[in-house]
Amino acid sequence: LPCAPLAVLGRDVQVPLASGEKVGYAALDYAASSPALQRVWDDVAAYAPYYGSVHRGAGYLSQLSTDLFEQSRRTVAEFLDLREGDQVVFTRATTDSLNLLAGAVPAGTRVFAFETEHHASLLPWAHAGLEVRYLAAPRSRAEAVAALDAALAEAPEGPKLLCVTGASNVTGELWPVAALTETAHRHGARVVLDAAQLAPHHRVSVRESGVDWIAFSGHKLYAPFGAGVLAGRSDWLDAAEPYLAGGGATRTVARETDGSVAVQWHTGPARHEAGSPNVIGAYAIASACRALTEAGFEALEAREQRLIDRLTAGLAEIPQVKVLNLFGPGSARVGVLSFVVQDWNSSHFSAALSAEYGIGVRDGLFCAHPLVRTLLGDDTPAADSACGAPDASLPGERSLNAIRVSFGAGTPDEHVERFLTA
Ligand code: PMP
Repeated sequence: LPCAPLAVLGRDVQVPLASGEKVGYAALDYAASSPALQRVWDDVAAYAPYYGSVHRGAGYLSQLSTDLFEQSRRTVAEFLDLREGDQVVFTRATTDSLNLLAGAVPAGTRVFAFETEHHASLLPWAHAGLEVRYLAAPRSRAEAVAALDAALAEAPEGPKLLCVTGASNVTGELWPVAALTETAHRHGARVVLDAAQLAPHHRVSVRESGVDWIAFSGHKLYAPFGAGVLAGRSDWLDAAEPYLAGGGATRTVARETDGSVAVQWHTGPARHEAGSPNVIGAYAIASACRALTEAGFEALEAREQRLIDRLTAGLAEIPQVKVLNLFGPGSARVGVLSFVVQDWNSSHFSAALSAEYGIGVRDGLFCAHPLVRTLLGDDTPAADSACGAPDASLPGERSLNAIRVSFGAGTPDEHVERFLTA
């Protein structure tokens, strides 16, 4: 399965080192945002001169844009292997998709989420006023399935929803999505899959995994910022209040004789896409879906696995490095890995990778504070502020944050080798 790295933007960017030399930037922070594929850029550049308003213009370019926008929806549906009757809603990103769904689930729905989730999949449910049962961090995949089974068995009647990640944004570990979904469905619960870290690395099939909804972000799937997807079953989405009130979501709006305004909302994706949509963003996501499908996930996964094996073997030779795994050493992961280095402050370490080697990684708590604290064996809330803000851990003391290295389809072997050398 020969597969060269896919061409991405920024691959020729030179960055200054502390020494004054310049070196090619090694982007090893794909888990935060991946560089866009050159192919996506080319597609968007070819289309940009022609874009016009979507669903609101009679002119040729408006019709063209409307066609391309709707074609992008179909491309995403194919990419995700959706079922008959499923819908694709274009959103701003995963965070937006999950907040949309949180507002759309029927009142009284009880939500289940492992405390190890990214904040985007952990927090929207309670924020929307739903009751949430947080499940403790499992230390194996089997334990995750058993914990969900037990929690659902004792849950009262009524609608239930599990929100689970496909691949952790901290450890990169794969979650047992099919087994969790089977367990949830057996108890009458629905499932939403946070595929922000899974979709860029592995083929996902909604049909085969059985999940009810899936969410991902364009900017982690080699497309630019500003667009994401929520896709899946239509019933709860069509029955819910629209995510935003405004033009495009309405079938009719009429002034009533009593002075009020009566609104009939669309069903289907338009219901939750009020306002002028991000047609460039949707088109870019569809372009990335096509490019990944054409490159072939089998080949992409095989190549990425080779890099993961090289990285984990290289790190295992450095006694001061501790790789963070929730499910134990050697557990299957995508190209995302977090670690700490003995006697090093993680923020200083990451800064040194940048200043001395031109390597861009991330340090912090990665918007998954409970998970990182569990992995570091620390139950005391550290006084960090924003998502992933660096904590001050002093040399020789227990780390309060970690370093994350992450890569994907555009990563050349040299970046991983340079990282291990560093
Ligand atoms: N879920 C996971 C697993 C993520 O890694 C991220 C982004 N780091 C999100 C959700 C949120 O994605 P976004 O910031 O694009 O909304």
